[in-house]
Amino acid sequence: MKILVINAGSSSLKYQLIDMQTEQVLAKGLCERIGIGGHLKHSPLFGDKPVFDEDLPLPTHSEAIAAVIDKLTSPEYGVVASMAEIDAVGHRVVHGGEKFAKSVLINDEVMAALEECTPFAPLHNPANITGINACRAVMGDVPMVAVFDTAFHQTMPGKAYMYAVPYEYYKNDGIRRYGFHGTSHRYVSSRCAELMGRPIEELKLISCHMGNGSSICAIDGGKCVDTSMGFTPLVGLPMGTRSGDLDPGVMQFLMHKYDYSIDEMLNILNKKSGVLGVSGVSSDFRDLDAAAAEGNDRARLALDMFHYWVAKVTGSYVAAMNGVDAIIFTAGVGENSKETRAAISSYFGYLGVKLDKEANSKRGQDIMISTPDSKVKVFVIPTNEELVIARDTRDIVA
Ligand code: AMP
Repeated sequence: MKILVINAGSSSLKYQLIDMQTEQVLAKGLCERIGIGGHLKHSPLFGDKPVFDEDLPLPTHSEAIAAVIDKLTSPEYGVVASMAEIDAVGHRVVHGGEKFAKSVLINDEVMAALEECTPFAPLHNPANITGINACRAVMGDVPMVAVFDTAFHQTMPGKAYMYAVPYEYYKNDGIRRYGFHGTSHRYVSSRCAELMGRPIEELKLISCHMGNGSSICAIDGGKCVDTSMGFTPLVGLPMGTRSGDLDPGVMQFLMHKYDYSIDEMLNILNKKSGVLGVSGVSSDFRDLDAAAAEGNDRARLALDMFHYWVAKVTGSYVAAMNGVDAIIFTAGVGENSKETRAAISSYFGYLGVKLDKEANSKRGQDIMISTPDSKVKVFVIPTNEELVIARDTRDIVA
């Protein structure tokens, strides 16, 4: 069975074609500048086909999907003979609200429910819906599955997901913590249990997804019991450009003083804050590491804040679960920055964490980076959201 995994953004579309017998990625690629020109980079990873990397007109997502299918099936760049070899499509959808606690086969009813979730993710869900519609238009009856970033967090208890505001805002308007990066937290936690050789049902795990966007998830017995992102992905840890947690009074103060509209204020909190805002250097942790090494105090402060917040939220989840068996680092920063992992782990002495320096210096693999006698284990597990989407799609279609 071959499954096409699609992650559609407002002007981009990422894809992977995965052979489910071997779970090998046959080809992957990215359409960019949809609607404002168009560019496709298509990389066959099977055989010795060349990479296609060129501008081409992509006025809408439909042309983008058609271009992807064209490349996947072309004699020169393709990895399958025809579209008939693509058995199903799995779509990443950011927000499933309280309606979707699991992945689901897409039909007209599901599409209507996705539209209803759009007010919760006004930037992301419309792009995901556009991607699904384009795929349905181009690929006809091929079965399609929606996999939600929020679904894994639907097991949180009320005490974790409620905000202490008047209850009717929850009841009437769905105001609550939803959490994001659920597909990533789900993948790394189940992989961690495999690596530990223990059933996930008996483990308490804390997964730290640290990339451009960052969130932490407390997973007790395989179920999410708390997570740091909230109603939107703006809160929790300071991130590349997002502020993370903030006293709402700061917004009122700044909006009055500088006459910002709410959109201007949120733009500052989403795009100009986080480690970029504090350092004034970059949202990229590689640039921050370099600047801090050259003595830039604000870059050092931004990094220190990030490490401190990861440690602080992780500690709160140890308390929430009354213990922890393993802590997992994943995503761009978590997988690549040994300095970040070491700095965060230095807060975990009270847990009996001992870091194995040599293991921590390795990259690009599932690895335990704590010493064998470390009371709480620490792992680096490269995330693989596409594989989770493909597996869910296979299971639902089968
Ligand atoms: P993601 O959102 O998961 O793609 O992660 C993107 C982030 O990973 C960017 O902020 C990069 O700076 C960061 N990153 C990638 N490689 C490294 C590295 N070697 N050291 C530090 N950060 C890195």
